[in-house]
Amino acid sequence: MGARAGRWSGLLVRGGHTVLSWGLTLLLFLHRTELRQQEAHGELLQPLLFVLLVLCSVLLYFAVSLMDPGYVGPEPAPHAQASTSEELKAMVPQKPPTIHLRRCGYCLLKQPLRARHCRSCKRCVRRYDHHCPWIENCVGERNHPLFVAYLALQLVVLVWALRLAWSGISFEQPWGAWLRHTGLLFAAFLLLAVFSAVVALLLASHLYLVSCDTTTWEFMSPHRISYLRRRSSSPFDRGLLRNLGRFFCGCEAVAWEMLYTPEDGEPV
Ligand SMILES: [Zn+2]
Ligand SMILES: [Zn+2]
Repeated sequence: MGARAGRWSGLLVRGGHTVLSWGLTLLLFLHRTELRQQEAHGELLQPLLFVLLVLCSVLLYFAVSLMDPGYVGPEPAPHAQASTSEELKAMVPQKPPTIHLRRCGYCLLKQPLRARHCRSCKRCVRRYDHHCPWIENCVGERNHPLFVAYLALQLVVLVWALRLAWSGISFEQPWGAWLRHTGLLFAAFLLLAVFSAVVALLLASHLYLVSCDTTTWEFMSPHRISYLRRRSSSPFDRGLLRNLGRFFCGCEAVAWEMLYTPEDGEPV
């Protein structure tokens, strides 16, 4: 029952996003915007580029929304196989992990450090960030970099669409005629402005969190996380460049237990 409801809500949200993306694009072509005028004059470069960017943003949205965010499997935490890259070996003293890993109270799997159970997905997610209702998926270790890339592309598309919508709005008409000809485009402009502000804020906050290797969950609830309770900063922070490199270029699961050194008397 729960899984079926989840499938339906996922279908609804993804369908809604697709309809909204293409609906707003169509609206820009149906009004007297720069895009429409360029298309009418046979200058197709900008209209085509815009449509291509919208298409890419929708595809990226589906990729982030449908991919495995890093679900914890039934096998033991990957101490041995993960984090064997030279960079990590250089960073971490190679010692057997002494951290006691918790077992999830819902799915009974052993949780790697930084994993959390998501009640919407009903799974434990590695390096859990948050459950995003807009993509109806968790943002975790595997899809977080793509999520940030999606936000960046979406922001470019939104700001461009905002500029195009504004180019089609003229206030030199009687009120009734203005409402008939431009009302819908103006409503779209307001909607695009709200979306742009939200996506810009999200992108900025995620770039900040990534730059100090902290997740939204860790940032919001350090008092509820045993390995953060007595610290003022993330124990995984290795400096801006290393954090960004590991986040965007790391292609294997990181065994965070290996990167973590408890402070004196600190329970984990
Ligand atoms: Zn769980
Ligand atoms: Zn989730």
